[in-house]
Parts: sequence; structure tokens; C-alpha cells
Amino acid sequence: MKFSNAFIPTTKETPKDAVLPSHIYLIRGGFINQVSSGIYNFLPLGKIVLDKIRNIIKEELDSSGCQEVQLGFVTPCDMWERSGRFGKYGKELLRFKDRRDNCFVLGPTHEEMMVELVKNRVTSYKQLPLNLYQIHLKFRDEARPRFGLLRGREFLMKDGYSFHADEEDMKREYQLMEDTYKKIFSKLGLDFRVVEADVGAIGGSGSKEFMVLADSGEDTIVVCESCEYAANIEAAKRKKPQPPTEAPEFSGFAKFHTPDVKSIDELSSFFHVEPYYLLKAVAKKAIYDKSEEIVLFFLRGSDELQETKAQNAIGANELVDVSEEELEKNGLVPGFIGPYELKVKFVIDEDLKGEKSLICGANEKDYHIIGCDLTKMEADYTDIAAVKEGDECPLCSGKLTLKKGIEVGHIFQLGTRYSEPLEAMFLDENGKQKPFVMGTYGIGVSRLVAAIIEQSHDDRGCIWPISVAPYLVDIVVSNVKDEEQFEFAKTLYNNLLNKNIEVILDDRNERFGFKMKDFELIGFPYAIIVGKDLKEGKVEFVDRKTLEKVVVPKEEILDFIINKINR
Ligand code: ATP
Ligand code: MG
Repeated sequence: MKFSNAFIPTTKETPKDAVLPSHIYLIRGGFINQVSSGIYNFLPLGKIVLDKIRNIIKEELDSSGCQEVQLGFVTPCDMWERSGRFGKYGKELLRFKDRRDNCFVLGPTHEEMMVELVKNRVTSYKQLPLNLYQIHLKFRDEARPRFGLLRGREFLMKDGYSFHADEEDMKREYQLMEDTYKKIFSKLGLDFRVVEADVGAIGGSGSKEFMVLADSGEDTIVVCESCEYAANIEAAKRKKPQPPTEAPEFSGFAKFHTPDVKSIDELSSFFHVEPYYLLKAVAKKAIYDKSEEIVLFFLRGSDELQETKAQNAIGANELVDVSEEELEKNGLVPGFIGPYELKVKFVIDEDLKGEKSLICGANEKDYHIIGCDLTKMEADYTDIAAVKEGDECPLCSGKLTLKKGIEVGHIFQLGTRYSEPLEAMFLDENGKQKPFVMGTYGIGVSRLVAAIIEQSHDDRGCIWPISVAPYLVDIVVSNVKDEEQFEFAKTLYNNLLNKNIEVILDDRNERFGFKMKDFELIGFPYAIIVGKDLKEGKVEFVDRKTLEKVVVPKEEILDFIINKINR
């Protein structure tokens, strides 16, 4: 490609809402442009990168026995009603009607569509297993689309669905997909971790996420410093924390006047008791399909609530904050909430089970209770606390640390969650009808374009790994009016093309500095500068990653670059 013919509208302008490097550089480098909130066009360079990622994914999936299909993007509401998800999915599901008043949604994920495709076409265990995938548009009307391609509303996903005769075969495929995903993300040059993930309200027996490590990631992951354990904070476990001190001794159960002492810190210094022995109450409003209620979550004062765990504990669709007025209406006094004589639902963190010497709120203004003994109380105990830096690994007791990650893939053991309600059945060896046992496997293809740059950039622009770079070599002609320079560059360009090396010739009649800035911003892995030194028989080779320059005799440059690329 000649730069002068290419549609690569680079710009110095940084979009107002762009804060992350991937968002800034992908727009400034002319890879993408924003159409509307969370909706992007892919320009030629962006499309090349996207297709390269897509091809790597396809190659690995196909060699693991998966088959590519393409399903409709617009899906009938009826399927969503039958699977029971129509109401549950909330506002992310974009619903609309056609001219005949038929209801449709833009597919945010395609379990229903894929089950309907396989249903009645695969009827016997002899046709199983089957793993079908597509690389196609998704639409989710995200509450907060942001960070460019990282959280779009319209985005490209690889979504795969496998069908099995039994649980055991599904687990075999799940493992195969984990291995295949690891190959894919390694080929993309990413530093990633495979983490245990939340299985949500759907349940299911297992789920893992693939997290690209990056400070800008929206997910928090818990990683053990000593063993392989890694989990999304939403699903992370820990060993029961050790008490920091002996439990305080109270002579019995008593109400204590604690004027204006509301926070855990205030309470801790008032009583000279470690937060570990204080009962913290977090109030939330739980939203269900057709109702809502206030729920209290009790934890140690030294812990924080993990909202996904809390939401799963009560099977809510969402948890939202509650106002003080709403609390008061339910007989709760902010700052003084405790577990006694409650009229609302409550859940206690499992680490508190058996605890006998706590201090808690008295549900009365300016009063707390000492000697709170949970063993004398009927309650639901569930893990609702967030793992903290320094907690102990549930597997090896090593130290747990927290990192930020970008979720680029997700594999999930679905079981019969969709096949059962949608009545997708096959005949087993004994002629008995059974629902398919399923797995589902996703990759954020367009999100990957940005995730790669989050991990690979500097203060000048993108640094593309060889495997997905839009072009490998940028030949920069310092002065296109210099015939010798231009002729040499053109010959080199043709020689590289003959060697099947993806090359772009910057033949624009622009200043040298301007062209180098574009090279750095776009992030082609290598540049060859054809400039004044050509008179002495020399050109310069630049490595985008290190920005190191090497002077190479002009007759050696072709072999030099071939060596670089093949290394
Ligand atoms: P997230 O937690 O980031 O919202 P998710 O868990 O809802 O993602 P999945 O349903 O697991 O997403 O979808 C599979 C993959 O699709 C994700 O692993 C992610 O890489 C990608 N993806 C999901 N939502 C978006 C989005 N809004 N924009 C771009 N990619 C997305
Ligand atoms: Mg996910």
C-alpha cells in the first residue's frame, strides 16, 4: 500500500471523552471513529487489525474442531420469552418492533438463537458433540459505554456454543476451549491470566475468564503470589482471616450509649476494639423481576461487601443504594443498624459464623450492643465479603494480591439452562429423550483491538505486536522530491511485496518529521528510513518498540528486515 493512496486520517486532536491510551491512539491513528455513544466505524487500518485478530481466533478454533456459522443479528423476542430471559435482561436488551408489530431484539448474546438452530436438526447422541461459533456483531445498550472499543454498545464478539450428551463430555470440551483460548491470547502477544469467574444467578458448574493485565482494566482480579490460584474478585475465595487479637470479653449482652458514634473507625476507637470484632451493616435495595425490597448485609468491620456475591446470595437482578429516608421508613437508624428484631431480610457473611463477642448496632439512635452472640440467632450465612490484598490463598495459604484486568474471554459450563426451557432434546443410547448439555465460550474481538494497545503503547502511540500489525514495515521516504531516494524506496517496496511482507510506502509529499510522527502514532513494528545517507549507500532501520535506530548498508536492508521478521 502506498500511504498517498491510503485512507488513514491521522489527527492531533484527542477526543474530549478519551482518557485511555487505546481510545486516544486508535482514534488519532485513524483506526476507528465514533459514530455515536459506544458505536464505532472501523477504518482501513482498524479493519486490518480486527481481521487479523479474527483470523487467529478462527484458525485456532477450527483446529480444535469448532465450526463457524453466522446467525441473524436481529432476534425474535419470542425466543427470549421462552428461555425466560426477556424480563431479566433489563435495559441492555434493545427491543423494537417491525412494521407488522412483531417484537425483536438486537442480539446481545446468542444462546437462544443457537439452541433453536440445533434443535430438531441434531436429534441423536450419534451427532454429538458439536461446537458452533460465530464472529459477529453484538449489541448491548450498556449503561455507561466508555473507553472506546473496550466497552462499546455495538461490538464484535466471537461466541461459541457446544452441545453434548452428558456433563462429562461438556467438561472435556470446556477444558479444550480453555487450552485453545490460551493459544489464541498467546499468539496475540498478550500478558493474561485465566481466572475463576462468577457463575451468576444462572448457576452452572464452572466459569473462567481470560483477563488481560492492565491498570486501566475495569475488573479486579485476585492472584496468589505462591500458587496458580486466580479469581475474579466477584468469585474469589480466601482462607478464613485470622483474628488480629484475642476476642474482647464482655460480661454479657448489654446496650451501650454511643452518642454520634456511627462509622466503624469511630466505633473501634470508642470501644478500643479491632474492627474485626465489629458488625458492619450494609443496606441495599434489591431489585427482582417484579418486586424490590431492602436487604441488610452484615460483615466484619474489617471487611467490605462484594456486591456480586451479595446479589447472588439473594438472587436479585440488581442491588442499588438506599436513601436514609427509605431506611428510616423500614425502622432502621443509619449508623446504628444491627441484626436484632429486624423487619427486613438480612444475610450474614460466612466468616462470622460462630462468632460470640461482637459489637453491633442496637437499631436505636446513639446505641450499640456489646456481647452480640450470633450463635443464638437464626440467620443465613453466605460468602459476601470482598477478598482484600494480603488475605490468604484458599488453596495454599500464600499471599493474595489484587490486580486490574480487562476481560477478553469467558468460558462457561451452561448445562441445560437453555436446552431445557427451549425443549432442545436428543435421543440417548437407550432411546431416551434428554436436553443437550451445553457450554458457551465468548471472546471480545473488537475489545481485543483496544486491550492489545492498553498493554502495548508508549507516550507516542501504538506498538503493534507482529501478529496483528496493520503493516509490518513502513518505508519512510525522507524527501520524495529526491529521485534517488524515491527510486530506491520504490524498489525496496516491490522487493518486500515480492517476499510477501506487508509493507506501506510513505510516499507523501510531507515533512520527514510529520511522517515519522505518523509512524510512531500508528505503531507499525518497523520503519526503514530512506534519507540523505542513501548517498553514502546507507538507510536506517527503526524498531518501533525500542525506537532504536540501526544504520544498514542499502544492499543489506532486504535481508536484514527478512531476518527481523522471521526471528
Ligand atoms: P463485562 O463484564 O465486561 O461487561 P460480560 O461478562 O458481560 O462483559 P460476556 O457476556 O461474557 O461479557 O461476553 C463475552 C465477551 O464479550 C467478554 O468477555 C468481553 O470480552 C466481550 N464484551 C462484553 N461486553 C462488551 C462490550 N460492551 N464491549 C466490548 N466487548 C464486550
Ligand atoms: Mg463475562
